[in-house]
Amino acid sequence: MKHKNVKSKLEILTPQGLENSDKPQKMRFNKRTSCIRCGKCCSESSPSLMKADMSLFVSGVLSHENTYTIRDGERVRSKGDGNIYESFVELVKIKDKDRTSVCVFYKDNEGCSIYENRPSQCRAYKCWAPENLMSGLEEKALKRSDIFGSIDLLMEVIEKHEEKCSYKKLSDAFDRLAEGREDAVEDIMDMLQYDTYIRPFLEEKFNVPSTAMDLILGRPLVDTINEFGFKVEKDGDEYILLPLKPIKEGEEEK
Ligand code: SF4
Ligand code: SF4
Repeated sequence: MKHKNVKSKLEILTPQGLENSDKPQKMRFNKRTSCIRCGKCCSESSPSLMKADMSLFVSGVLSHENTYTIRDGERVRSKGDGNIYESFVELVKIKDKDRTSVCVFYKDNEGCSIYENRPSQCRAYKCWAPENLMSGLEEKALKRSDIFGSIDLLMEVIEKHEEKCSYKKLSDAFDRLAEGREDAVEDIMDMLQYDTYIRPFLEEKFNVPSTAMDLILGRPLVDTINEFGFKVEKDGDEYILLPLKPIKEGEEEK
């Protein structure tokens, strides 16, 4: 019985299995030099788009339905290591599948469904040499102005939205709140209100599709505010700002 337990552990520790009954196979380590299309990188995060990918919008591979914007200064929680990072530049990204970090174009057992037209970051990424991927990002990254630059109405909406509720303003307000300044709450609520109401307004007055909002305006502040340690709850017509309850060590999420 004891022998069986040892053997089952060896099977786990040596993924290549056992050879000649109980003799474990030697692990073989080879340096990877080309992509084997395993899909690991597609499951860990979706790509940011570069200006060179604009042609994918023109050809219809990408659209407002499968992309969204990370605004300058937005805090993003990495699904890889769980840490929060602040974006130092505006980014347009391909969406993930709901509540996962898997790119929407990734299909189980098939791989990338747009492989021949995959974005430049996917073409450039080499998991065995990832170090240079971010170089020159500020200049190369696709911006909303690259996509909507010829649509005056949307550019005005984007500019006004940034003026009213940029992440810099929001971050400053949370700093003031941390210092105990009451006026910060009012400023934060104003920003939340503007971001929440501009979305249905654009839909109703200008027929902007709801699926385009996260690309035009970025993700809703009522969601991204979690990365500042707060949440918003709706009470009738009112929104209430509440601190997120930290999960205590040893306490499991329900
Ligand atoms: S780049 Fe690496 S992780 Fe991504 S699909 Fe290719 S082999 Fe897999
Ligand atoms: S676009 Fe294709 S290659 Fe790029 S992350 Fe998505 S599934 Fe992977």
